[in-house]
Amino acid sequence: MTPNRLKLLTPERSVAPVPTASLSERLFEMSLDMLGTASLDGFFTHLNPAWERTLGWTDRQLMAEPFINFVHPDDVAETLERSRELASASGTEVIAFVNRYRTSSSEFRWIKWDVVSDDTALYFVARDFTDAKVITMERDQDASVMQGVLESIADGLYVADSHGEITFINPAGVELLGYDSSDELIGHSPHEAFHHTHLNGLAYPIEECALANVRINREPIHADEDGFWRKDGSSMPVSYSSAPVLLHDGIGSVVAFRDITERQSRELHERRALEALSWVGRIRDALEENRLTLYAQPIVEVATGATVQHELLVRLIAPDGEVVAPGVFLPVAEEHGLIRDIDRRVFELALVHAAQGHPVSINVSGESISEPGLFRYVEDQLMSHGVDPELVIFEITETALVRNEAVAQVFIESVRRLGCGVALDDFGTGYGSFRYLKHLPVNVLKIDQEFVRDLDGEAAMVNRHVVEATVTLARGMGQKTVAEGVETESILAIVRELGVDYAQGYLFARPVPAEHALPSIRKTR
Ligand code: C2E
Ligand code: CA
Ligand code: CA
Repeated sequence: MTPNRLKLLTPERSVAPVPTASLSERLFEMSLDMLGTASLDGFFTHLNPAWERTLGWTDRQLMAEPFINFVHPDDVAETLERSRELASASGTEVIAFVNRYRTSSSEFRWIKWDVVSDDTALYFVARDFTDAKVITMERDQDASVMQGVLESIADGLYVADSHGEITFINPAGVELLGYDSSDELIGHSPHEAFHHTHLNGLAYPIEECALANVRINREPIHADEDGFWRKDGSSMPVSYSSAPVLLHDGIGSVVAFRDITERQSRELHERRALEALSWVGRIRDALEENRLTLYAQPIVEVATGATVQHELLVRLIAPDGEVVAPGVFLPVAEEHGLIRDIDRRVFELALVHAAQGHPVSINVSGESISEPGLFRYVEDQLMSHGVDPELVIFEITETALVRNEAVAQVFIESVRRLGCGVALDDFGTGYGSFRYLKHLPVNVLKIDQEFVRDLDGEAAMVNRHVVEATVTLARGMGQKTVAEGVETESILAIVRELGVDYAQGYLFARPVPAEHALPSIRKTR
């Protein structure tokens, strides 16, 4: 081995051997790979036709100058370095490297070289891989840049080798997958470790695994939504991209993945917000087109079974006739400033029934209660419809009172003076239930379904105590009690036993359109 055998760019030229055997001659001519020989001083000496096909130069042109003259300026240093290595290598050692080579149209092609040398010449096979869909990490500087990127980015990144086993995974990838170190994953197949089952719980064989197929199909892929499984068995929604990659042992794949939990929840949030907005439009239309309507549900005297009043419950009738429950559109209306309009519309619709002599109970939202102008409006409407105020009860929840207690108090006192009733709705569910009773002149407590529904069930004892306490308190203050959500005879029996005055619930009737329900009460009066 003579270290400085190779003297590139020196002017004198040596004679290179020419393949003589006819078979090798023919193979040499036919090969699609660029085959050739070069002198130790850096000139091509023999080139097959593939060169001209690939680079556009004739072999004469290529042989006229030192071959380094065709190398991209940025790749010259490395090419010389490799050539020096070649000079000190044993005759059988193949030195591989890549560089960019100038074409006759002054473009550059990526060329991968495999070179051997002996004492007389260099022999090489060169391949143009510019158009290949594979990323190459063969070049040291690419590899070190890649390494730096892989280590530092927040996305998970791993490389699987030509057998589909992980050879590298970056710290972010290890963490996202819930492992303590990359050692736990290296040497394992991603399919077995974390990509064996769809998020819907269906497992699938590796042949159907898109990620595993990247290296087989040599096609990059991207998935916007898929799932990986963490070490602890929990799932993680991910998006990923994968591309085939040329590694020293063949084609593997590199995969970048990202936890999209946050993106998904953001999208969900956006979808909800959009949906709410679309409801705003629908509510406005319903208000404009008079598609709000009232359903009525009887309130029954426990002692006699007689219907004494109806609670009026709003419904939105969609353009296609669908009846929409208030739970769907009231929260949107509250959030987007439409609830006051709804409450006023409900009030107007309710007064039509009250004007005919039906006692009605009307729900009023917190938003409306805290509006100083509400009382004047109510008073005017009662007068103009000629309604006996005693037929009207306003149902107000504690949460509604909390908003603006002072204004609410004024409203309650004013309507009470006028002769209307005020019921505290959903009694027992808020924090301040008993506090409000001290200074608000309400005359009905509606015990929330939560305590009534389970009077004969699991929480029977606690609920009994709540109902009992409410009844005792109400009696002491001259108020009436209503049990909401009475669905069965057995609950009605307990409600009666505990001394509740009135009951409301599916046992007696579900809410039905008010115009159907209210004529019947006239007959019973
Ligand atoms: P709420 O005031 O507590 O009304 C009672 C709710 O319980 C009604 O639901 C009624 O259909 C339901 N219900 C009655 N009996 C039973 C029963 O035995 N079992 C069960 N599981 N449920 C029963 P709805 O009509 O869907 O109303 C829901 C809420 O929407 C009302 O609760 C009230 O807070 C609000 N709301 C309804 N109408 C109006 C309105 O005109 N204005 C305002 N501001 N809010 C209203
Ligand atoms: Ca109510
Ligand atoms: Ca209620």
